[in-house]
Amino acid sequence: MYKIDEAQEKKEILRRYRLIFKSFKREISQEEHEAIHKAFVLAVSAHEHTRRKSGEPYIYHPLEVAHIVVEDIGLGPTAVVCALLHDVVEDTEYTLSDIENGFGPTVARIVDGLTKIDAIFDQNQSFSIQAENFKKLLFSLSDDVRVILIKLADRLHNMRTLDSMPRDKQLKIASETINIYAPLAHRLGLFSIKSELEDLSLKYTEPDIYNFISEKIKQSEPEREDLINNFIEPIRKKLDNECLKFSISGRVKSICSIWGKMKKKGIPFEEVYDLFAIRIVLDSPVETEKADCYRVYAIVNSLYRANPDRLRDWIAIPKSNGYEALHTTVMSNTGRWIEVQIRSKRMDEIAERGYAAHWRYKNEGINPDGETGLDLWLSKIKEMLEHSASDNSLSFLNDFRQNFFNGEIYVYTPTGEVKSLPAGSTVLDFAFHIHSEIGFTVIGAKVNHKLVPINQKLKNGDQVEIITSKTQKPNENWVNYVVSSRAKSKIRQWLREEHARYYNQGRDALQQIMTTFSVPFTEENIRMVQNAFSRKNKSELFYDVAMHKIEEKDIKPLFKQAEEKHENWFWQMFRRGSSSNNASASGNNRTDKQSSNLNLQDAIQAQVENKPESLLLGNDVKNLNYIIPECCNPIPGDDVIGIIIPNKGIEVHRTNCPKAIELMSQYGNRIVKAKWKKNEKIGFLTGITISGFDRPGMARDILGKVNEDPQINIRSISMKSAEGIFEGQIMLYINNTSHLQDMMDKVGQVDGVEKVNRIDHK
Ligand code: MN
Repeated sequence: MYKIDEAQEKKEILRRYRLIFKSFKREISQEEHEAIHKAFVLAVSAHEHTRRKSGEPYIYHPLEVAHIVVEDIGLGPTAVVCALLHDVVEDTEYTLSDIENGFGPTVARIVDGLTKIDAIFDQNQSFSIQAENFKKLLFSLSDDVRVILIKLADRLHNMRTLDSMPRDKQLKIASETINIYAPLAHRLGLFSIKSELEDLSLKYTEPDIYNFISEKIKQSEPEREDLINNFIEPIRKKLDNECLKFSISGRVKSICSIWGKMKKKGIPFEEVYDLFAIRIVLDSPVETEKADCYRVYAIVNSLYRANPDRLRDWIAIPKSNGYEALHTTVMSNTGRWIEVQIRSKRMDEIAERGYAAHWRYKNEGINPDGETGLDLWLSKIKEMLEHSASDNSLSFLNDFRQNFFNGEIYVYTPTGEVKSLPAGSTVLDFAFHIHSEIGFTVIGAKVNHKLVPINQKLKNGDQVEIITSKTQKPNENWVNYVVSSRAKSKIRQWLREEHARYYNQGRDALQQIMTTFSVPFTEENIRMVQNAFSRKNKSELFYDVAMHKIEEKDIKPLFKQAEEKHENWFWQMFRRGSSSNNASASGNNRTDKQSSNLNLQDAIQAQVENKPESLLLGNDVKNLNYIIPECCNPIPGDDVIGIIIPNKGIEVHRTNCPKAIELMSQYGNRIVKAKWKKNEKIGFLTGITISGFDRPGMARDILGKVNEDPQINIRSISMKSAEGIFEGQIMLYINNTSHLQDMMDKVGQVDGVEKVNRIDHK
């Protein structure tokens, strides 16, 4: 429990206040000092009677936030003033105009921004309101980056002091941190803040894992120290001989990224080979820093054998968050791969503290390259916000995630100019990146001198030459071919305008068709046609009629059918299934608009919730034409979904199958929930892989275990052995997942067997 001692607290407040001044990297002026003092006095009196959940005086919080703002982010006096005042307007009686009168418009604007973006992901709010809040946060970001930088400091201190919060709040704050703030910190290049935010989130969301890994790190420290010292020694000697000024040390990965590796590769802690990295920071003048880095690189590689696939040159092409360094992975004398990171002091500061450091260097005229990735990123955000004004918030949020949190690729123009695009970009994205007129008329491209279609995905280092044609124009599918928000919004805008152009023509044509069937041209009947063809609105419907995509012969059966009973099971599924019934079944494979706006997971969820009845899979349901595909070989017990494939039937996939994910994005409104019937007697084909240390009789023992279950039939088996290690694969027919798990457990107990895995996807 916190014990209140006011005299002690007064001392502590002053101590924390003075600490802020100690952290400034430069001399601050008399006026700046006075402004900070004034803000301090106001904050102290405003929060005088409030305490934090922990019992401590509230003023500790703004003081700590101000300290982080200088110490960890490297911002200046104005930001400190704002940090001290950041909770004043929200929590006390002072108003924004009090702040403006006392500290001027800039401080008032930043404090206002900080007040507005309080809760972004409030679970009590709908997803679209959360998305709207997020958009607000980005607006303030593009207005003045300091808003988000101070917000990150605020969040960091709240995460550091999360202990005193109730459990449900801890979880909410931690998940918001991991989803929004850590990626933002990463994107702004604040590496150490990002790592700390991630680790703290893990500490509260998965305390067991967090404690386990941090314990392991502690235990393995002596051994690691030895390893690092032995590895570093020869490098240190050689660099000394070259008269380079440098520091060299070993750095352990963050707990969260170790856990990420373990999960991704399915390996225990001990097998994470890049648990730590060696970092060499050169104290070189800006003029020679790059050359010196490459020199050090050559020296390291002369001492240890390098893995050529693992060289990362972020000096030649810096990452778009401003990161610059050389990474090389070399083989140590102990037979272990070790990553060595080489960078100058300037690069190091930018790497750790990101945007503010980068900005300062630029203002001091030290940054040799002028506009950097970060400036471009910020101007891209601005542009995106302007373009997206008419799009809905959900698609905006998805676009944003796609464009600004994911990785990026670098491709070349025919003249050798580098362009950076979001990962997953296609030829079409590239064309729009060059110019929207080129985007609208592109018919293909030569990628590395080979002819490819517009939806071809690009890879790092590709050289792209766009081919255009005057007669080309965009169509609806194009929206699905692009990932960059710029291209997406340009195409959407074009389509909207195009639809408007053909509105009257299509309306007249539809009226004529309906008149031939003696159907009145009423709003109600129009909507019925619109729904039958899954068109989002009237203008889309009229456009497709004008384009002859929907013709008289397609519409005719509609007015007949409306009277008839639908005995066909297929149609029943459709009718119950979604609001946008597709009664034409003409193999129309346009992506369902609604689901492309949500992310896939949400889309499946929404579809499944809409369908109370589920598809029961079993051998007695003979009239259902369902197909078990070869890609993921689902067996009873797996989580599965069914996807209705026109003219084929229902394909049943495991929910994590990549093929299924592709199909779902194509047939978004044709997902049916699928469930296995209990006591299934059919055998389903699946496979397992086994590896371990070979010995005489190994195959016999494994097969013996598999055969213990009479419900299992082996279809094929293959085993190979080399250097005392064997690997085997068994394909079998099996009833359900629990049988499979039992059998795998038994095989795992066979003497010498190390790993037994199910084959997930072919
Ligand atoms: Mn705060």
